[in-house]
Amino acid sequence: MNIQEKFCLKGKKAVVTGGAQGIGLNYAMAVAGAGADVILADLNEEKARESADFLEKQYGVKAMAIRTDVTQPEQVENMCSKMIKEMGRIDIAFCNAGISINVPAEEMSYEQWKKVIDINLTGVFLTATAVGRYMLRQGRGSIINTASMSGHIVNIPQPQIAYNASKAGVIMLTKSLAVEWAQKNVRVNSISPGYIMTDLIEGHELIPEWTGLSPLKRMGCPEELQGIALYLASDASSFTTGADFTIDGAYTCV
Ligand code: NAD
Repeated sequence: MNIQEKFCLKGKKAVVTGGAQGIGLNYAMAVAGAGADVILADLNEEKARESADFLEKQYGVKAMAIRTDVTQPEQVENMCSKMIKEMGRIDIAFCNAGISINVPAEEMSYEQWKKVIDINLTGVFLTATAVGRYMLRQGRGSIINTASMSGHIVNIPQPQIAYNASKAGVIMLTKSLAVEWAQKNVRVNSISPGYIMTDLIEGHELIPEWTGLSPLKRMGCPEELQGIALYLASDASSFTTGADFTIDGAYTCV
């Protein structure tokens, strides 16, 4: 198989948590464009349904929305069972849903801390292990977790202790799963984006400051994560597991 053929995902089945919009939807576009059928698992069912319709029309693949709260183990399990019922297998999973709450550490409540950790870190654990159980049985699979450059550096000036800790956790969870499942042909990698213009940060008052700190002097577009998403989802990355890819316009270099 040549390298171009390895990027083809025809017949493959992918799930994206937090796939209704933003970075998750762009991951879905990357794999749907290469021929994969896609499940968008998101809290926002209406938006996920609109995005699934868009994927079907744009790429001619099968796409479905399944309302899922990634913090709820039974909802994640049900999502996987529905995916198996509808699509027969799970080849690719993007564990991507995430939020940020920016308050000074000394003012952060236990509830705020727990909410961020539950969605960003526990949600990745629940999704990756739920899809992983199917992939281990199938004898193959690729899991791609969304971490962040905030798992490597402390962003300034906004305080985001729980977010940073959750994303550092995602990077280590990724490496740990990759090692546990290396012999079973289930690969696990993470993507650490820099500032990307999505609803998560659109209109934020600190955007001029962030772009000023960035060597490229601009924010990233979610489309600019599609290449790495397709690479990691496909057989082109067959020797890549346990890796974290920082896609940040060199933000963390300085
Ligand atoms: P977004 O807010 O545009 O999209 C997040 C999606 O996750 C939404 O559709 C939301 O409904 C869904 N979601 C939230 N809580 C959920 C839950 N409990 N269960 C299921 N779905 C849930 O954000 P985005 O910018 O696309 O971020 C996606 C991921 O990328 C997050 O993990 C985020 O931390 C990470 N990230 C974003 C940036 C950035 O600059 N935008 C940078 C680095 C990392």
